[in-house]
Amino acid sequence: MNWEPWTGCYPQSIGCTYCYFYGKYSKRYGQNQIVKTPDFNKPVALQKNNQPKIASGKIVATCFGTDFFLPEADPWRKDAWEMIRQRPDLDFLILTKRIDRFEVSLPTDWGEGYTNVNLGVSVENQTLADLRLPQFLSLPIKRRFVACTPLLGPIDLTAYIDQIDHVSVGGETGKEARECNLDWILALRQQCLDHEKTFWFKNTGSRFRCDGVLQKVNPYKQSSLAKSMNLNLLGETPLF
Ligand code: SF4
Repeated sequence: MNWEPWTGCYPQSIGCTYCYFYGKYSKRYGQNQIVKTPDFNKPVALQKNNQPKIASGKIVATCFGTDFFLPEADPWRKDAWEMIRQRPDLDFLILTKRIDRFEVSLPTDWGEGYTNVNLGVSVENQTLADLRLPQFLSLPIKRRFVACTPLLGPIDLTAYIDQIDHVSVGGETGKEARECNLDWILALRQQCLDHEKTFWFKNTGSRFRCDGVLQKVNPYKQSSLAKSMNLNLLGETPLF
């Protein structure tokens, strides 16, 4: 289940270069203008029979086509947090490249964090991991994940991994996609194994170097190829 309360975005770091959600791709996937969507109230919206539109127990991927912490969304985010607070029966996944803006518009009763929020930071290479993760780990958040997507180089999460619940990795998709290397994925998996963390290899990306050989992978086959490699360490954790 997705919830996109607003749409539009713009680049924040190197992983955004070929993002589907802005620039020349935006006609297909969204728009450059940051605007509220008709789904803004979705978590608290009711059906004709007065049942919630989002049934209890769902995982709600929030702002996966934009960024929850965009400055342009500061006034809307207060209402978004309020809706999240009103639905403790849902599990909200929020993934951001703007963790430095986490505290802007934070609810006054946030305390150590809402239990129904699983917050993730995306890091594309070691430089961005070393920039974003110390800040991420210093914030009051109950459940944390790291998405190494699109993975653009080797990343060592050893200094941070004890405070992270889950790691997902994936390559970049598209005509201009940069290479993703199986060795980087295996190294991240080993870090998760050593520290008993869950791990999800979600897709290979379009240019996947495997055992030294660079392959072009059709967008429709990137997830299934990743799955077929049996690298996931998922435990009870839902996929994200
Ligand atoms: S922050 Fe996310 S949605 Fe926004 S441009 Fe970057 S990759 Fe795209």
